[in-house]
Amino acid sequence: MMLKGFLSSITHLVWGAIGLCWGWVAGWVEELSPMLIAGCLFCALLPDIDTTSSIVGRLFYPFAKHIEGEYGHRTITHSLIAIITVCVICVSLFDFLAFGVWLLVGYVSHIVLDMVVGDGVPLFYPARIRFEMARVKSGGDGEWAVMALGVFFAFIPFAIPNEIHAVITPPLITPEPHELRINNLRSLSDLFITTGDEITRGEIIARNRLGYVRSDVSGTAHKITCSQSGNETSCQIFVLPQLADD
Ligand SMILES: [Zn+2]
Repeated sequence: MMLKGFLSSITHLVWGAIGLCWGWVAGWVEELSPMLIAGCLFCALLPDIDTTSSIVGRLFYPFAKHIEGEYGHRTITHSLIAIITVCVICVSLFDFLAFGVWLLVGYVSHIVLDMVVGDGVPLFYPARIRFEMARVKSGGDGEWAVMALGVFFAFIPFAIPNEIHAVITPPLITPEPHELRINNLRSLSDLFITTGDEITRGEIIARNRLGYVRSDVSGTAHKITCSQSGNETSCQIFVLPQLADD
């Protein structure tokens, strides 16, 4: 029982990290702080506060014992009521896009995983109909396989090449980016996540964790990656010829 609860918690941590890994690589995570990671992973464990055999249940033992006795495991904390409640809390207490949404992603990852491992979740609790996508036996070899699958999903985004290969000019080091104006972002959208954020001068049309892209009126697109050391920011500017032909 002890090992089963522990294995389940580890699997939830792995699956809780998937959304964050994808979000970070795609540039949706504004700042990957230890607080954000801890919050997301904590929320990935939180629904199991309804059982004293889980890690979070042991952390909050009296509360877990109460919920377990009153409602039972995989009931109210694994339902839409709980998801909506967490959503409301995340919207009202936190900067939602920067922080709250990742708590919600963590919480929802738990519910989704419980639809795969064990005997499903009563999404519409108090209605008892259980929703499931698979019936992997919890604590067995199947759960180890689900955990391995979670590790795989979490690492996929890092394996996707998101460097741009068609760089012809040698990188040029300048103290700050050239001023460039927006032109055509249609063909860039395949490579970068469009944010429309304005950070410094000109207009940034796309951004991911590698940097951001601006383009000028001549149709030449540039990829600009910057690194900071102390107060100094140095940027490398690359010309992307295949986009200039667009
Ligand atoms: Zn659960």
